[in-house]
Amino acid sequence: MSDVMCDFCGNEWTLERPMVEGHHGSCICGPCLTVAYTELVVAKGGDAPAGYKCTLCLEHREDPGWASPAREAWVCRRCVKQSAGVMGKDKESGWSRPV
Ligand SMILES: [Zn+2]
Ligand SMILES: [Zn+2]
Repeated sequence: MSDVMCDFCGNEWTLERPMVEGHHGSCICGPCLTVAYTELVVAKGGDAPAGYKCTLCLEHREDPGWASPAREAWVCRRCVKQSAGVMGKDKESGWSRPV
């Protein structure tokens, strides 16, 4: 379990830090997803550069994206919503959607 790292903050997957896997072995953790969801969905913002490549779906996306403050990683709004759905359904994650 502990050799999986969040692509956005570099922290390891632990019981206290739930993660959702992207399509290609990439991962986003609960705390990063909270920040990304808040920025992209709640605040309708996004600070990823134009033509960014989403780290989770590996696509060049036109929709707003969140840029990791710690690493060269971006996530698109579609992946944030998908990941929030997955993590929100997993009761053990303890994660809930920011409002
Ligand atoms: Zn993270
Ligand atoms: Zn994506």
